[in-house]
Amino acid sequence: MRTEILPIDEKSLRLSKSIIDGGGAVAFPTETVYGLGANAFDNTAVEKVFAIKGRPNDNPLIVHVHKDYDLSELVTEIPEYAQALAKAYLPGPLTMVYKSRGKVCPAVSCGLDTLAVRVPLHDGAQKFLKYLNLPIAAPSANISKHVSPVTAQHVFFDLDGRIELILDGGKCSGGIESTVLDCTGEKPVILRSGLVTREMIEAVAGSCGEYVLKEGEKARSPGMKYKHYSPSCDTKLFRFDELEKAVDEYNKSRSKGVEAYVLCDDKTAELVNVDNVLNLGKTGEQIASNLYDKLREGERCAQLIIAIAPEEHGGVMKGVMNRLIKACGN
Ligand code: AMP
Ligand code: MG
Repeated sequence: MRTEILPIDEKSLRLSKSIIDGGGAVAFPTETVYGLGANAFDNTAVEKVFAIKGRPNDNPLIVHVHKDYDLSELVTEIPEYAQALAKAYLPGPLTMVYKSRGKVCPAVSCGLDTLAVRVPLHDGAQKFLKYLNLPIAAPSANISKHVSPVTAQHVFFDLDGRIELILDGGKCSGGIESTVLDCTGEKPVILRSGLVTREMIEAVAGSCGEYVLKEGEKARSPGMKYKHYSPSCDTKLFRFDELEKAVDEYNKSRSKGVEAYVLCDDKTAELVNVDNVLNLGKTGEQIASNLYDKLREGERCAQLIIAIAPEEHGGVMKGVMNRLIKACGN
């Protein structure tokens, strides 16, 4: 199968529709990462998405809808706090989990009675979803467990020959996956941190819990138990207060002939002052936006990525740290 990369216009949208209507999958941009979408009413098409990615079949997908889609067709019980959060942050990088009406096919939620729904902000994603006027089940458009794609070229690298079409909407601005929020209880509970932060949720909903997976427990968000986002080269992660240890590791590796690169934020880059740096930028937003691009650059040029965690840990950095630990954790 030949994989085409096309800009988003009438012609590529028409092609997308014929692929989706024919039970296929199309990669499309969002403001977080690129998604691989299929018709959420078509069980065979959704199962194909799992197969294309090699995704474990107990890790449910997020359904994407356009901003005028009537959510009550897909879910029951939208609590007041969820309505307020939707008003404040949607369209945007926030996925909300509700009780499912059971209308979408069973493969989407892997048999759970809940459904994760997202309304992306990206203009290209909105055009795609509006053109199809269907709920589109979409995980990230990468091979399972590899670094998520934030450009059409990243998708091509992973899925060339496995899908027909990648809609190119440029580099994703957000850079890390959406915040996943359980909205089935009395108060919202964060299942995965992202760009819509706990502080932002508390400001609207009053309170917000955060779910932590305990050893031996069944995961409330199945994706939690899987290693994710890993580059193909070796990685080592150091805390900010282990800076000297990280530099020692870099020097030791280089003297042994290992092509090591330090992955860190701008402030840390000045402090370590080494030749090979993958600089993530200054602010939390910049760091999130550059993280996967730099991890993918790292796997092209480095044999070893020495990641140093930024000093800040609150807000957006919480989501960044979660990804960094999963990508580079020892
Ligand atoms: P990905 O598509 O790779 O960004 O993964 C989607 C994330 O949403 C995974 O961590 C899933 O476990 C989570 N998710 C999807 N549907 C549900 C659901 N119904 N309940 C809880 N978590 C979900
Ligand atoms: Mg993913």
